[in-house]
Amino acid sequence: MENTDARPDADSASEGTVLSRRSALKICAAAGGLYLATPMINCGRFQAFAQVGATYSARAIDLVEGSLVIDMLTALGGERWEKMWDNADAIGESDFQWLKSSGIGVFHVAGTTFGSRAREYAFKEFARLNSLILYKSAHVMRIDSAGDFERVKREGKAGFLLGMQNSVHFDKVEDVDTFWLLGQRVSQLTHNDRDRIGSGGMAWFDGGLTEFGLAVVERMNKIGMTIDVAHCADRTTLEAIEASSKPVAVSHANCRALNPGYPRCKTDEALRKMAAKGGVMGLTVLRAFVRGEEPTTIEHWLDHVDHVAKLVGVEHVGIGSDAGLATGSPKEDMEAMKWYEGLPSNIKKFYRFRIKFGIDGLDHPKRVYDIAEGLIRRGYSDADVRGVLGLNFKRMLEETWSGRASRGNPPSAHVEPNANPARSPSLYTAADAGPSLGSFTRNEI
Ligand SMILES: [Zn+2]
Repeated sequence: MENTDARPDADSASEGTVLSRRSALKICAAAGGLYLATPMINCGRFQAFAQVGATYSARAIDLVEGSLVIDMLTALGGERWEKMWDNADAIGESDFQWLKSSGIGVFHVAGTTFGSRAREYAFKEFARLNSLILYKSAHVMRIDSAGDFERVKREGKAGFLLGMQNSVHFDKVEDVDTFWLLGQRVSQLTHNDRDRIGSGGMAWFDGGLTEFGLAVVERMNKIGMTIDVAHCADRTTLEAIEASSKPVAVSHANCRALNPGYPRCKTDEALRKMAAKGGVMGLTVLRAFVRGEEPTTIEHWLDHVDHVAKLVGVEHVGIGSDAGLATGSPKEDMEAMKWYEGLPSNIKKFYRFRIKFGIDGLDHPKRVYDIAEGLIRRGYSDADVRGVLGLNFKRMLEETWSGRASRGNPPSAHVEPNANPARSPSLYTAADAGPSLGSFTRNEI
């Protein structure tokens, strides 16, 4: 099947297809300003990637190449990346080049565990990720601390920021420390359903943050692990932000105001409270999240940036694509739709995916260049664009990993033990957790 845009081997190392702005300028100078058909369209616009076909301004290329770019939720993607989980030799230098040529420097990699063996599955997952990072240390490094953001850029490696898309692998609060030692730096409090931490956005009932959830929040603040409420239901989101003494991330979501009724989008109230504590929301590039109807283009994605910027400030916007670099290719979209069709009906009715997963204009591996170009088009300054591309999340992550507890409310002040039956840990049962044997799912959106 033709899939040339998306496959790592086709995209990565095809000679000279990734053209830096500086290289292009040299060609321009050598040509004495004469028009060249390719790769430079003219001396102001550059066709940086043959496969994508789009042209970019020198300013957009400079901003991406000169900035730290963080994708706060990525699926990596592509057939060989899927195989790597069982065989690290399945991926090679060209695959890492493919990652790096996307313009993204730090990839937040996070799966999901369910069931009574969630902790065990999480141990295995972090063991595998750590092994891969060690084995492929020439190309990839783990992001553990603030200094690693500078290092990953300087060394030209792909940075992996390790997280989980829920926290049921924390059987007890001390497990936060254990998984921090294994490299976990971000944890979503819940996935889509209700668990012993709180309620996800697709749960039938939002019971808010539980007592155990509150204890986990306190421990994450203390140890320096970033709290992420991307999948949490509205009440759980607000209570977690209130309880946290540090900024709280919404790693991958969009604005409810622009997509009414969509549970994976955040309310304006949540965005205001998130921002008041220094948090950042990463905007997904998933079609159903961005808009409930057609067409759905990059301009609608940029509307989400504008909305957050006007509401609370552009310094609270980031990228959390929730997509692999191959998302948007016909093959990946077909696979994703197959996955979607197999979801339980109660989850499927919330996601409401349609046509394809990606957004027109952002459905290719170099999408961050289009994002930079679009932000420029909307009038954002260079500093604003750098912030959205990664520096806003860098600032927030550094603050949550530091020893400082800032802008905090006393975390237990608002909690009335057992005030609501759904908040009681005693009501948490195996049925809440899902299949009794447990499971692990990567790249759950
Ligand atoms: Zn997710």
